[in-house]
Amino acid sequence: MNKSGDDMTYADFYQESIDEPANFWGRQAQAIHWQTPYSQVLDYSKAPFARWFVDGRTNLCYNAVDRWLATQGEQPALIAISTETHQEQVYSFKQLHAEVCRMAAILTRLGVGQGDRVLIYMPMIAEAAFAMLACARIGAVHSVVFGGFASHSLATRIDDAQPKLVISADAGSRGGKPVPYKPLLDAAIAQAGFKPSNVLLVDRGLVPMTLVPERDVDYASLRDQHLDADVPVTWLESNQPSYILYTSGTTGKPKGVQRDVGGYAVALAASMTHIFCAKPGEAFFSTSDIGWVVGHSYIVYGPLIAGMATIMYEGLPTSPDGGIWWSIVEKYKVTRMFSAPTAVRVLKKQPAELMSKYDLSSLKALYLAGEPLDETTSNWIAGALGVPVIDNYWQTETGWPILSIAKGVEEQPTKLGSPGLPVFGYKVKVQNEATGEDCGANEKGVVVIEGPLPPGCLQTVYGDDQRFLSTYWNQIDGKQVYSTFDWGIRDAQGYYFILGRTDDVINVAGHRLGTREIEESISSHPNVSEVAVVGVENQLKGQVAVAFVVLKHPDAAGGADASAALEKEIMGVVDQQLGAVARPARVVFIHALPKTRSGKLLRRSIQAVCEGRDPGDLTTIEDPSSLAQIKTALSAVK
Ligand code: AMP
Repeated sequence: MNKSGDDMTYADFYQESIDEPANFWGRQAQAIHWQTPYSQVLDYSKAPFARWFVDGRTNLCYNAVDRWLATQGEQPALIAISTETHQEQVYSFKQLHAEVCRMAAILTRLGVGQGDRVLIYMPMIAEAAFAMLACARIGAVHSVVFGGFASHSLATRIDDAQPKLVISADAGSRGGKPVPYKPLLDAAIAQAGFKPSNVLLVDRGLVPMTLVPERDVDYASLRDQHLDADVPVTWLESNQPSYILYTSGTTGKPKGVQRDVGGYAVALAASMTHIFCAKPGEAFFSTSDIGWVVGHSYIVYGPLIAGMATIMYEGLPTSPDGGIWWSIVEKYKVTRMFSAPTAVRVLKKQPAELMSKYDLSSLKALYLAGEPLDETTSNWIAGALGVPVIDNYWQTETGWPILSIAKGVEEQPTKLGSPGLPVFGYKVKVQNEATGEDCGANEKGVVVIEGPLPPGCLQTVYGDDQRFLSTYWNQIDGKQVYSTFDWGIRDAQGYYFILGRTDDVINVAGHRLGTREIEESISSHPNVSEVAVVGVENQLKGQVAVAFVVLKHPDAAGGADASAALEKEIMGVVDQQLGAVARPARVVFIHALPKTRSGKLLRRSIQAVCEGRDPGDLTTIEDPSSLAQIKTALSAVK
């Protein structure tokens, strides 16, 4: 049988990935360049820590950039478009290589070497991609922090990653208004216990910046000194870390998802071929941000590893008008586009002619991920574009899709409301959360993955193997499985449906936020005695955060004006500490939070009341009137 995947059924392709992972992944590994061949495809002797392509030496930057120089050096690699600053720049693979070498030379000059961490806090500008690729080139471990996060979020990440260098810019821009980054970064460094040696700053000329002597350095002047730099690739053992990406969990402390080099490169290459049907020379447009996992996998590394041009977009989907993304598809003949359901819901509200006026015939498929894809949104966009809409379900932890339809292997039907079937390499199951028994068809349980996790998934939680084990790997009845923390069902045809999180993580416009982090931030307000943050269903964003606050001095919120002013003040605290992305949609003042007699907060009951559902068994509630109060308070603020 030809095992290239071209003439296999998806069922056979998938089964081989599970039954014979070494054969399967050995074949997929041929899609990337290995400087030194690996001696073993998988070492799972220290389960659940999986080591892929042991002893193999490779490099993400080489595979993304250098590898394409000979065959398509003059072709577009990175297309950076900003409707905020009205700049548009196309970098060929050769030009991208030159810029990455310049950045790598600057990093080396600043004392950054293999294994050193570099924190990247940047807007969606080309220099951010240069920075990521330059780190990968010299074996430094990057940790990109989303530009929408503020000083406290940054400080916790600085303390955890302990970066030698921070790379940032004067400002981002949103809706034509500059969003200064430097003051937030300065405050974060002041707050953090760990002090980076240097801060490298890209000056976009958006807002004035004061450089801290000795510490801060200007990118443009250093770049001028390294125009001819040719920095050799550092060949890394496949299991060395490539990056850390922080994600929210059930505690206030974000987890550093640590990824390897070789496994990640192979997984991305395989996903680009078999899920995203990539072809070298074509253009890929992912509308995410480099601060999220989609930005890492499918703005920077994935498309470039597949030899595609990738589009980086800074700006709103509705500015200068709601046709901007479609104009980009037309201009650059985008074949594969990746976005989130929230963005599609925003575009659905735009006049239809903003879509029909562009020639979208290059587009072959639209991929959506990050949150549940509802049928209305899916049907609308599929009808409007006339191309397949492919839902895919995954997490920061996995780095690439867990569930989808791999149309590059076999044209299989999609089902509305379902992200699809388990992707090759993932042994997905639905288990009863209490017994660990496999659920039957259509029976709700927790979506889990049996180890080994395929290549590309998290190696561990950065600096904390114990947290990796205790957070993700449940032992039920002696069986160890990776928990996704999502509820789900599998139907009789094997299609999965995701039914929301089992933990306190909420999903706002496809962005994952920890309610505990928001609660901790709100608690720092001097008048807050207690707070509960829950995710409440929202038509546009999927969910929004709503905070219920018990005040130390309730009089401060007496009267509509005082209450509105205090609400604004508390939102300001979240903006300043965590960033506007985490700001609750409402802050509602109440007299008591519903708790059990043992003092456990009844978050799910609060959420149920907010969404007009049955709050469940009320006999365990210490003060049942607290829920009624939430209902009244909520209707008063709606
Ligand atoms: P993040 O780590 O920020 O990518 O968030 C991952 C979480 O987002 C998952 O655990 C799910 O709860 C949710 N999610 C991601 N993609 C989908 C999808 N296609 N359908 C439903 N939920 C999704």
